[in-house]
Amino acid sequence: MRSPLESGLSAESIAMTFSPLPLIDSFGRVHNNLRISVTDRCNIRCTYCMPESVQFLPRHDLLSFEEIERVVRVAATLGIDKIRLTGGEPLVRRELPGLVARIAAIPGIKDVGLTTNGILLPELAQPLKAAGLRRINVSLDTMDPVRFRELTRRDGWEQVIEGIHAARRAGFDPIKINAIALKGVTEADLLPLARFARENALELRFIEYMPLDVADAWDRSKVLLAEEILERLRQGIGPLTPAADQDPRAPAVDYDYVDGRGRVGVIASVSRPFCGSCNRIRLTADGKLRNCLFALDETDLRALLRQNEPNDAEIARAIRDSVAGKWEGHEINSSRFIKPERLMHAIGG
Ligand code: SAM
Ligand code: SF4
Repeated sequence: MRSPLESGLSAESIAMTFSPLPLIDSFGRVHNNLRISVTDRCNIRCTYCMPESVQFLPRHDLLSFEEIERVVRVAATLGIDKIRLTGGEPLVRRELPGLVARIAAIPGIKDVGLTTNGILLPELAQPLKAAGLRRINVSLDTMDPVRFRELTRRDGWEQVIEGIHAARRAGFDPIKINAIALKGVTEADLLPLARFARENALELRFIEYMPLDVADAWDRSKVLLAEEILERLRQGIGPLTPAADQDPRAPAVDYDYVDGRGRVGVIASVSRPFCGSCNRIRLTADGKLRNCLFALDETDLRALLRQNEPNDAEIARAIRDSVAGKWEGHEINSSRFIKPERLMHAIGG
């Protein structure tokens, strides 16, 4: 590997690139959180995320584990200390615990998390835990197996429930459940999910439906708003109070049930955008760095990783430049909004 000075970058540029300055954008937001999509493939087909028939990336387009590890090593020198693996469905990528172990061992990385649909957790929860995975979020939108099939176009509800229990047995705590809230579709699921979460000590978070799905399927009238969700929970379960230990930079706003039996959150990306405190960047499975979920531009890290003699200074500079160029926030609530071409499963939610 070439040293930074052999890379053709000036000494000043290298000093800037590897300086201990945080990854900061022009709005003063410091970025310490990298979400890595390890595949665009999935073993189900959620209607709000991908079409029934999809052209997936050819395998050689995916970053190898070595390439992902290299990006994380460089990102860690820039202040990234939290990693979340996602997809597509991350558990369909073979040997995922091996990647978790590599990332968890990188100096500076304090936290490795995973977002999964849970179907493969019965067999993978234990190896993932042993590999150093710290946090797990399981997506589950309904307690009704028939509605699960309608939403995902596949069977699998029982495996997800078994996967959640397997995660508990493996020692994950807390376990978070992500449920997407679709008006007129999943309203009947709010209370059964909330009861299941309370009975099993799971932290449930409802996510507002975002325009990242198949062309033109999203429209504002299909978004079940955070306030409506909270009101239904108050009426159907009981009073809620804002969580005292709320992380102000987290996208979820959490509430505790006043009866002391659990916590529930809302991720109000549409009705209460949290762009002002965003600390995240994203790496797609094919190695494109995105500075926002809704970004229209990408930085091609794979091209840098696959050049004859890749060098870390160039990768670091590309990451810094991407963060520096980040916009103020998405424009979902304005007529200026332009939907990115990539669908959710190809970005990594
Ligand atoms: N397959 C994994 C899973 O489902 O958890 C990880 C990838 S998935 C894209 C990550 C999260 O994005 C899931 O919780 C899913 O519900 C959410 N999601 C997908 N499409 C969405 C949309 N259009 N709006 C809001 N959230 C969405
Ligand atoms: Fe697959 Fe997750 Fe998208 Fe559902 S939300 S289709 S599980 S990637």
